[in-house]
Amino acid sequence: MIKSSAELPDTLIGGLRFLLFPNRDFLQKKYEDHRRFTIIVSAFLSVLWAALWGWDWVTDPVGADNTRVLRLLFLAALAYSLTLYFIRKSSAWLAIITVVGMLAAEANFILILNHLDNGIVYGLGGFMYCMFIAVLVFQCFSLITNIIYTLSATLLPHLAGELAIADNFQHFQYAALIWPAALLAIVAQIVQSHHYLLRYQLERQLEALSTTDTLTGARNRRYFIPLLAREVRRAKRTGQKLSLLMLDIDMFKRVNDTYGHLTGDRVIHNVSVVSHQFARDIDVVARLGGEEFAILLTACDQNQAVQVAERIRSEIKGITMHSEDDISFNYTVSIGVAELDESDQNERCFLGRADSALYKAKESGRNRVVLAEDEKDLFNSRNRALTSENSDCSES
Ligand code: GH3
Ligand code: MG
Ligand code: MG
Repeated sequence: MIKSSAELPDTLIGGLRFLLFPNRDFLQKKYEDHRRFTIIVSAFLSVLWAALWGWDWVTDPVGADNTRVLRLLFLAALAYSLTLYFIRKSSAWLAIITVVGMLAAEANFILILNHLDNGIVYGLGGFMYCMFIAVLVFQCFSLITNIIYTLSATLLPHLAGELAIADNFQHFQYAALIWPAALLAIVAQIVQSHHYLLRYQLERQLEALSTTDTLTGARNRRYFIPLLAREVRRAKRTGQKLSLLMLDIDMFKRVNDTYGHLTGDRVIHNVSVVSHQFARDIDVVARLGGEEFAILLTACDQNQAVQVAERIRSEIKGITMHSEDDISFNYTVSIGVAELDESDQNERCFLGRADSALYKAKESGRNRVVLAEDEKDLFNSRNRALTSENSDCSES
């Protein structure tokens, strides 16, 4: 019923296609999961590159005088890392800025080598660092970003050589050393990304399992109560209408006793199917336990909520179920409806009012919808929902 990891790829080719065209959620999570690592590694690399001035000095003590400032520019990458940390949000422009920034750092490296005697010949191996960047620093971005960066970073020195920006640039020497490293880096990026995709899939599956009721596919209580709390706070802040249905199967014990538990389970499942059928995509259907459901209707006032509840009740009443022994029978449900109002200090009060209305529906004969009236309804004798934490409602 709820969206699950079933939408994620389950073949290698499907996985690679997903990595090339990932969804926003995947990119956001990848970014969040690697952000800290990216910051630490890029900060470390910045300091290392700046400190490699020592290498300039060993190669050419005279030329090294001119590379000091250029080397210090690498520390700007440190500032960049901190910015990344504060920005927090993943986005296409952040990836573009990062790629451009890293290519600028490589161009800076070419300028440094130009200042050194035969620098471009001796320093050729230094371009290897540029290959590490994508494997280490860019893990927080998409695979496409990594590949674009790696290819650009590999081509940039060729371009600088062609444009005579890099003095004495040896295309073949460079290609023999750096292109294999670049290809290796791309393979490593694909493997890393695929590995992360597996982790992402497992986490999503685990999340779905821990928030879904296995019998019905509806959300479970663990998912629903915090969601209700958030939605109540949001509705109070924005003034948006919010309604809640509490649904309970009538005389369900009798269904179990007469037709058996397997049939009982199918009845519970059926309630979930019908509830989802009449709920909108933005609504949330949850099985709170046993044969009891809650349906949260966003942007919906009590009149509309009563209509939804009536439709569910009357649809269920008309359904003929069949037991394992093929005996046909009907069943009914009772529904309590509440619209969030000022008297609801929190989600427990709101749930309590809907539950009180449900109790009234039961008391007054079952197979009916009852609307919670007002504060008088608050917490009557049967406070079943969240009994231990309701004192703040009963005092209001
Ligand atoms: P009322 O109309 O007042 O709600 O009566 P009821 O019989 O529906 O209420 P009661 O709470 O006495 O019975 C609920 C029954 O639901 C008791 C329990 O055995 C059964 N039940 C709880 N969970 C499940 C389940 O997962 N599967 C099945 N088949 N039965 C369940
Ligand atoms: Mg019942
Ligand atoms: Mg019950």
